[in-house]
Amino acid sequence: MTDFRREKILVGGDWIQADAGGRIEVTNPATGAVIGTVPDAGAAETARAVAAAEAAFGPWRALTAAERATHLRRLAQAILDHREALAELLTEEQGKPLAEARGEVGMSAAYIQWFAEEARRVYGEVIPSPWPDRRLLVTRQPVGVVAAITPWNFPSSMLARKIGPALAAGCTVVAKPASQTPFSGLAWGVLGEMAGLPAGVLNIVTGSARAIGGELTANPSVRKITFTGSTPVGKVLLAQAAGTVKKMSMELGGNAPFLVFDDADLDRAVEGAIAAKFRNAGQTCVCTNRFYAQAGIHDEFVKRLAAATAALKVGPGAQDGSEIGPLIDAAAVAKTEEMVADATAKGGRIVTGGRRHTAGAGFYEPTVIADATDAMTFAREEIFGPVAPVFRFETEEEAIRRANATEYGLACYFYTSDLGRAFRVSEALDYGIVGVNEGLVTTEVAPFGGVKESGFGSEGSHHGMQDYLTLKYTAMGGL
Ligand code: ADP
Repeated sequence: MTDFRREKILVGGDWIQADAGGRIEVTNPATGAVIGTVPDAGAAETARAVAAAEAAFGPWRALTAAERATHLRRLAQAILDHREALAELLTEEQGKPLAEARGEVGMSAAYIQWFAEEARRVYGEVIPSPWPDRRLLVTRQPVGVVAAITPWNFPSSMLARKIGPALAAGCTVVAKPASQTPFSGLAWGVLGEMAGLPAGVLNIVTGSARAIGGELTANPSVRKITFTGSTPVGKVLLAQAAGTVKKMSMELGGNAPFLVFDDADLDRAVEGAIAAKFRNAGQTCVCTNRFYAQAGIHDEFVKRLAAATAALKVGPGAQDGSEIGPLIDAAAVAKTEEMVADATAKGGRIVTGGRRHTAGAGFYEPTVIADATDAMTFAREEIFGPVAPVFRFETEEEAIRRANATEYGLACYFYTSDLGRAFRVSEALDYGIVGVNEGLVTTEVAPFGGVKESGFGSEGSHHGMQDYLTLKYTAMGGL
């Protein structure tokens, strides 16, 4: 099996160490064991990566779309050929159950394959001219060098959503994976080599987020930043990039509500609730943060949700049948513990879970808390852990108002069997992604993106290409 664990960064086709020789340790969150180290690079290495990407941009954009599509198809195939090794590496550094890691790696291949197809559909327009002697053309061109900064919760597929459309559009990339999960990021360099990507088309740097982010945002050769991560860091990047007026895409935090109306199919709602809450142990930006159950079904929903939650199998991701792995680090466990303590101090009732799990220091029990109120921290803040608070509501109007009472607007979910309500509520919810009677909605063929402080831009679908393209209007005169 190919070993994807690269302990070097990729700059202009060369695998190198950090200039100062510094290293960052990478740990397995299930055991706390160090599984390797990666370079602690900074601004200088990043500047060289940007220069390499800039040098590669001209020849890469000059390829025909069909040629770039061939590279991307090969990249997708390389991922599928090595799916198991990539999934094992992902689980080892990130913690998620192996079945979820395989799913994520499959999604990575699906995104790349999708954008291989979209590469050939970057159409222009001819606008009917108001002048008899002129013709007006609109073309789409690659924006230039793209910096892609990604988080630890989906270390493979978050890069797929960015690398895929960037390369398809004719852009070149400097990627910075999260320091907790750099190996799945560096693996893209190995996969790129397998696919025969020219040197400099894809560069990958690990190290100081502040130093690398500072260089990527200040460097005038970087024409676009695509970021997935927390809202506070997104705001920093937006402010820093203002100096060189870059094109930006921001996939930031969420505070997803999940509404269950009296007329919902409760079996389906509970199944969706488990999927929308506990994937990756609750560590996704579309994970349910707040359940709202209508008074008529509230007690029954809480009972069934608690039973399904208590049945989840907790254990190391690599262990057969594990459904809930460890949280990413000790700080995440401590934060989960604090949120639960805050809730119980304010009258929250633990129905199941509510403690650290005996599987190890990184684990927390899947938890359901009833009698949740707006005074509790998780009403406002992202939980990012396996805790499901349930709030009670009376009317549709109240549910919508409370669901929208957040600065976030990424994903939301609701369950109803009333067709009119399905349309009313989905139109009234201020979110970029709505699951109606569905708890898992992500696919490469549909646009993924938020509103409000959850960010802007779409990833996936044919819309996912547009963030990497600029419109050029050409007026042909004197005809
Ligand atoms: P999370 O809470 O998911 O870790 P972060 O926003 O902290 O989200 O991190 C997401 C990514 O952004 C990571 O790759 C992280 O290293 C990077 N990052 C954090 N701070 C900065 C910064 N100041 N500039 C650029 N990147 C940063």
